[in-house]
Amino acid sequence: METSSALGAQSTVPGASVTGTCLCGAVRFRVTLPTLFCAHCHCSMCRRNHGAAYVTWFGIARERLALEAGADVLVRHASSEHGSRSFCGRCGSSLFCESTRHPDHVDVVLASMLGPIDRAPAMHVYFDSRADWTDVRDELPRLGGVSGVELLAGQQPEPRPGTWVGHVMLAVPDVEKTGAFFAALGMRVLEARPDFGLLELRGGTHLLLFPGEAPVRGSVAPFDLMVEDLAASHARFTAAGLAPSAIEPNPHHRAFTLVAPSGHAVVVQSDHASGKPV
Ligand SMILES: [Zn+2]
Ligand SMILES: [Zn+2]
Repeated sequence: METSSALGAQSTVPGASVTGTCLCGAVRFRVTLPTLFCAHCHCSMCRRNHGAAYVTWFGIARERLALEAGADVLVRHASSEHGSRSFCGRCGSSLFCESTRHPDHVDVVLASMLGPIDRAPAMHVYFDSRADWTDVRDELPRLGGVSGVELLAGQQPEPRPGTWVGHVMLAVPDVEKTGAFFAALGMRVLEARPDFGLLELRGGTHLLLFPGEAPVRGSVAPFDLMVEDLAASHARFTAAGLAPSAIEPNPHHRAFTLVAPSGHAVVVQSDHASGKPV
Protein backbone atom coordinates (compact mmCIF):
# COMPACT_ATOMS: atom_id res chain seq x y z
CA MET A 1 0.00 0.00 0.00
CA GLU A 2 1.25 3.37 -0.93
CA THR A 3 -0.06 6.74 0.13
CA SER A 4 1.03 10.18 -0.88
CA SER A 5 2.51 12.42 1.74
CA ALA A 6 0.75 15.30 -0.01
CA LEU A 7 -2.60 13.54 0.37
CA GLY A 8 -1.95 13.41 4.11
CA ALA A 9 -1.08 17.09 4.38
CA GLN A 10 -3.45 19.32 6.30
CA SER A 11 -4.90 22.22 4.39
CA THR A 12 -3.72 25.54 5.76
CA VAL A 13 -5.63 27.71 3.30
CA PRO A 14 -8.71 29.44 4.68
CA GLY A 15 -11.96 29.07 2.71
CA ALA A 16 -15.00 26.87 2.41
CA SER A 17 -14.26 23.19 2.43
CA VAL A 18 -16.14 20.11 1.26
CA THR A 19 -15.75 16.57 2.54
CA GLY A 20 -15.49 13.53 0.33
CA THR A 21 -15.61 9.84 1.12
CA CYS A 22 -15.40 6.41 -0.46
CA LEU A 23 -18.40 4.08 -0.50
CA CYS A 24 -17.57 2.34 2.80
CA GLY A 25 -16.45 5.54 4.54
CA ALA A 26 -13.00 4.25 5.48
CA VAL A 27 -11.34 6.95 3.36
CA ARG A 28 -12.39 10.47 4.18
CA PHE A 29 -10.87 13.65 2.82
CA ARG A 30 -11.48 17.37 2.65
CA VAL A 31 -10.92 19.84 -0.16
CA THR A 32 -10.63 23.56 0.47
CA LEU A 33 -12.13 25.65 -2.31
CA PRO A 34 -11.56 27.02 -4.87
CA THR A 35 -11.20 24.12 -7.25
CA LEU A 36 -9.31 24.54 -10.53
CA PHE A 37 -11.65 22.95 -13.12
CA CYS A 38 -14.34 20.31 -13.48
CA ALA A 39 -14.69 18.02 -16.50
CA HIS A 40 -16.20 14.79 -17.76
CA CYS A 41 -13.39 12.43 -18.85
CA HIS A 42 -14.14 9.91 -21.57
CA CYS A 43 -10.70 8.23 -21.68
CA SER A 44 -10.71 4.44 -21.82
CA MET A 45 -8.81 4.17 -18.53
CA CYS A 46 -11.39 6.16 -16.58
CA ARG A 47 -14.11 4.12 -18.21
CA ARG A 48 -12.56 0.80 -17.28
CA ASN A 49 -11.47 1.93 -13.83
CA HIS A 50 -14.98 3.08 -12.87
CA GLY A 51 -17.10 0.70 -14.95
CA ALA A 52 -18.89 3.78 -16.24
CA ALA A 53 -19.48 5.64 -19.51
CA TYR A 54 -17.30 8.51 -18.31
CA VAL A 55 -16.04 9.99 -15.06
CA THR A 56 -16.46 13.51 -13.70
CA TRP A 57 -13.32 14.91 -12.08
CA PHE A 58 -12.40 18.21 -10.54
CA GLY A 59 -8.88 19.52 -10.07
CA ILE A 60 -7.64 20.81 -6.73
CA ALA A 61 -4.28 22.28 -5.79
CA ARG A 62 -2.37 19.57 -3.95
CA GLU A 63 -2.12 21.61 -0.74
CA ARG A 64 -5.92 22.06 -0.70
CA LEU A 65 -6.57 18.32 -0.43
CA ALA A 66 -6.33 16.83 3.05
CA LEU A 67 -6.75 13.16 3.82
CA GLU A 68 -8.62 12.93 7.12
CA ALA A 69 -9.00 9.16 7.48
CA GLY A 70 -8.03 5.97 5.73
CA ALA A 71 -4.39 6.59 4.83
CA ASP A 72 -3.82 2.93 5.75
CA VAL A 73 -6.46 1.61 3.32
CA LEU A 74 -5.88 3.98 0.38
CA VAL A 75 -4.23 2.01 -2.41
CA ARG A 76 -2.38 3.62 -5.26
CA HIS A 77 -2.27 1.94 -8.65
CA ALA A 78 0.34 3.16 -11.16
CA SER A 79 -1.96 3.22 -14.17
CA SER A 80 0.57 4.64 -16.64
CA GLU A 81 4.18 5.75 -16.76
CA HIS A 82 3.14 9.21 -15.56
CA GLY A 83 -0.12 8.66 -13.71
CA SER A 84 -1.56 6.89 -10.69
CA ARG A 85 -5.05 6.26 -9.46
CA SER A 86 -5.89 5.85 -5.78
CA PHE A 87 -8.79 3.85 -4.47
CA CYS A 88 -10.15 2.54 -1.20
CA GLY A 89 -8.62 -0.87 -0.53
CA ARG A 90 -11.71 -1.91 1.40
CA CYS A 91 -14.60 -0.94 -0.91
CA GLY A 92 -12.81 -0.24 -4.20
CA SER A 93 -14.08 3.32 -4.72
CA SER A 94 -11.84 5.26 -7.07
CA LEU A 95 -11.00 8.64 -5.52
CA PHE A 96 -7.93 10.40 -6.88
CA CYS A 97 -5.84 10.59 -10.02
CA GLU A 98 -2.38 12.12 -10.03
CA SER A 99 0.15 12.67 -12.77
CA THR A 100 3.77 13.76 -12.93
CA ARG A 101 2.59 15.90 -15.88
CA HIS A 102 0.68 18.13 -13.44
CA PRO A 103 2.40 17.58 -10.09
CA ASP A 104 0.80 20.59 -8.41
CA HIS A 105 -2.81 19.42 -8.64
CA VAL A 106 -4.76 16.26 -7.93
CA ASP A 107 -7.88 15.13 -9.80
CA VAL A 108 -10.71 14.15 -7.46
CA VAL A 109 -13.84 12.15 -8.37
CA LEU A 110 -16.74 14.61 -8.09
CA ALA A 111 -19.21 11.84 -7.18
CA SER A 112 -17.29 11.10 -3.98
CA MET A 113 -18.06 14.54 -2.53
CA LEU A 114 -20.72 14.88 0.19
CA GLY A 115 -21.66 18.42 -0.84
CA PRO A 116 -21.46 20.77 -3.79
CA ILE A 117 -18.17 22.22 -4.97
CA ASP A 118 -17.76 25.68 -6.46
CA ARG A 119 -18.37 24.87 -10.13
CA ALA A 120 -20.28 22.61 -12.51
CA PRO A 121 -18.66 20.33 -15.11
CA ALA A 122 -17.60 22.65 -17.96
CA MET A 123 -16.20 20.37 -20.69
CA HIS A 124 -15.82 16.87 -22.04
CA VAL A 125 -12.19 15.74 -22.28
CA TYR A 126 -10.84 12.78 -24.30
CA PHE A 127 -14.20 13.06 -26.06
CA ASP A 128 -12.86 11.30 -29.17
CA SER A 129 -12.14 8.24 -26.98
CA ARG A 130 -15.73 8.03 -25.75
CA ALA A 131 -17.65 4.77 -25.78
CA ASP A 132 -19.78 4.61 -28.91
CA TRP A 133 -22.82 3.82 -26.76
CA THR A 134 -22.45 7.14 -24.96
CA ASP A 135 -25.03 9.69 -26.09
CA VAL A 136 -23.92 13.20 -25.08
CA ARG A 137 -26.48 15.93 -25.75
CA ASP A 138 -25.28 18.83 -23.63
CA GLU A 139 -23.73 21.99 -25.04
CA LEU A 140 -20.36 21.75 -23.27
CA PRO A 141 -17.16 21.99 -25.35
CA ARG A 142 -15.88 18.64 -26.60
CA LEU A 143 -12.13 18.30 -26.28
CA GLY A 144 -9.81 15.45 -27.18
CA GLY A 145 -6.71 14.57 -29.18
CA VAL A 146 -3.45 13.32 -27.67
CA SER A 147 -3.61 15.71 -24.70
CA GLY A 148 -7.34 15.14 -24.26
CA VAL A 149 -8.01 18.88 -24.16
CA GLU A 150 -7.63 20.03 -27.78
CA LEU A 151 -10.71 21.51 -29.43
CA LEU A 152 -11.95 18.75 -31.74
CA ALA A 153 -12.72 20.00 -35.27
CA GLY A 154 -16.25 19.26 -36.40
CA GLN A 155 -17.22 17.88 -32.98
CA GLN A 156 -18.49 20.94 -31.16
CA PRO A 157 -22.11 20.76 -30.04
CA GLU A 158 -24.72 22.21 -32.32
CA PRO A 159 -26.27 25.23 -30.58
CA ARG A 160 -30.04 25.31 -30.35
CA PRO A 161 -31.71 27.67 -32.82
CA GLY A 162 -31.62 31.23 -31.51
CA THR A 163 -35.30 32.08 -31.92
CA TRP A 164 -38.57 30.36 -31.19
CA VAL A 165 -42.28 31.10 -31.22
CA GLY A 166 -43.14 33.55 -28.43
CA HIS A 167 -46.91 33.45 -28.12
CA VAL A 168 -49.85 31.78 -29.74
CA MET A 169 -53.30 33.16 -28.99
CA LEU A 170 -56.70 31.60 -28.91
CA ALA A 171 -60.08 33.24 -28.29
CA VAL A 172 -62.37 30.76 -26.54
CA PRO A 173 -65.86 30.83 -24.98
CA ASP A 174 -64.67 29.26 -21.70
CA VAL A 175 -61.12 30.27 -20.78
CA GLU A 176 -60.88 28.21 -17.57
CA LYS A 177 -62.21 24.98 -19.06
CA THR A 178 -60.03 25.28 -22.15
CA GLY A 179 -57.01 26.08 -19.96
CA ALA A 180 -57.62 22.93 -17.92
CA PHE A 181 -57.81 20.93 -21.17
CA PHE A 182 -54.43 22.20 -22.40
CA ALA A 183 -52.94 21.60 -18.95
CA ALA A 184 -54.11 17.98 -19.20
CA LEU A 185 -52.15 17.73 -22.48
CA GLY A 186 -48.94 18.54 -20.62
CA MET A 187 -48.70 22.33 -20.76
CA ARG A 188 -47.63 24.22 -17.64
CA VAL A 189 -50.26 26.53 -16.15
CA LEU A 190 -48.91 30.01 -15.40
CA GLU A 191 -52.23 31.80 -14.98
CA ALA A 192 -55.79 30.50 -14.81
CA ARG A 193 -58.35 33.26 -14.53
CA PRO A 194 -61.91 33.36 -15.95
CA ASP A 195 -60.82 36.12 -18.37
CA PHE A 196 -57.23 35.12 -19.06
CA GLY A 197 -55.29 31.89 -19.31
CA LEU A 198 -51.54 31.53 -19.77
CA LEU A 199 -49.85 28.18 -20.41
CA GLU A 200 -46.23 27.37 -21.13
CA LEU A 201 -45.12 24.89 -23.79
CA ARG A 202 -41.80 23.13 -24.38
CA GLY A 203 -39.25 25.58 -25.74
CA GLY A 204 -40.80 28.46 -23.81
CA THR A 205 -43.70 29.30 -26.10
CA HIS A 206 -46.73 30.70 -24.24
CA LEU A 207 -50.33 29.98 -25.15
CA LEU A 208 -52.66 32.88 -24.31
CA LEU A 209 -56.35 32.19 -23.88
CA PHE A 210 -58.81 35.05 -23.84
CA PRO A 211 -62.61 35.24 -24.01
CA GLY A 212 -64.21 35.08 -27.44
CA GLU A 213 -66.96 33.51 -29.51
CA ALA A 214 -67.14 29.74 -29.90
CA PRO A 215 -65.47 28.76 -33.19
CA VAL A 216 -67.45 27.52 -36.15
CA ARG A 217 -68.08 23.81 -35.60
CA GLY A 218 -65.10 21.75 -36.72
CA SER A 219 -62.67 24.70 -36.74
CA VAL A 220 -59.08 23.60 -36.42
CA ALA A 221 -56.97 25.52 -33.86
CA PRO A 222 -54.48 27.88 -35.58
CA PHE A 223 -51.56 25.79 -34.25
CA ASP A 224 -50.81 22.12 -33.85
CA LEU A 225 -48.96 20.36 -31.05
CA MET A 226 -46.09 17.90 -30.98
CA VAL A 227 -45.28 15.13 -28.56
CA GLU A 228 -42.27 12.84 -28.19
CA ASP A 229 -44.16 9.58 -28.20
CA LEU A 230 -47.40 9.78 -30.14
CA ALA A 231 -48.73 6.34 -29.14
CA ALA A 232 -47.98 6.87 -25.44
CA SER A 233 -49.65 10.30 -25.54
CA HIS A 234 -52.66 8.84 -27.34
CA ALA A 235 -52.98 6.19 -24.62
CA ARG A 236 -52.61 8.77 -21.85
CA PHE A 237 -55.19 11.12 -23.36
CA THR A 238 -57.58 8.22 -23.87
CA ALA A 239 -57.21 7.25 -20.21
CA ALA A 240 -57.81 10.89 -19.24
CA GLY A 241 -61.16 10.81 -21.08
CA LEU A 242 -60.09 13.28 -23.79
CA ALA A 243 -61.33 10.95 -26.57
CA PRO A 244 -58.55 11.36 -29.15
CA SER A 245 -59.30 10.29 -32.75
CA ALA A 246 -57.46 7.27 -34.15
CA ILE A 247 -53.79 7.79 -35.03
CA GLU A 248 -53.53 8.45 -38.80
CA PRO A 249 -50.51 8.97 -41.03
CA ASN A 250 -50.32 12.28 -42.88
CA PRO A 251 -47.70 13.35 -45.48
CA HIS A 252 -44.98 14.12 -42.90
CA HIS A 253 -46.09 12.75 -39.56
CA ARG A 254 -48.57 10.61 -37.77
CA ALA A 255 -51.25 12.48 -35.91
CA PHE A 256 -54.49 12.37 -33.99
CA THR A 257 -57.03 15.03 -33.16
CA LEU A 258 -58.58 16.15 -29.90
CA VAL A 259 -61.53 18.48 -29.52
CA ALA A 260 -61.00 21.21 -26.93
CA PRO A 261 -63.90 22.39 -24.72
CA SER A 262 -63.85 25.59 -26.81
CA GLY A 263 -64.82 23.48 -29.86
CA HIS A 264 -61.43 23.81 -31.59
CA ALA A 265 -59.98 20.67 -33.13
CA VAL A 266 -56.37 20.37 -31.96
CA VAL A 267 -54.05 18.20 -34.05
CA VAL A 268 -51.33 16.38 -32.12
CA GLN A 269 -48.38 15.29 -34.28
CA SER A 270 -45.38 13.05 -33.83
CA ASP A 271 -42.10 14.89 -33.25
CA HIS A 272 -40.30 16.19 -36.34
CA ALA A 273 -37.11 17.65 -34.87
CA SER A 274 -33.98 17.40 -37.03
CA GLY A 275 -32.15 15.30 -34.44
CA LYS A 276 -30.07 18.37 -33.52
CA PRO A 277 -30.66 20.17 -30.20
CA VAL A 278 -33.91 22.13 -30.09
ZN1 LIG B 1 -14.02 2.45 1.13
ZN1 LIG C 1 -9.91 9.80 -17.96
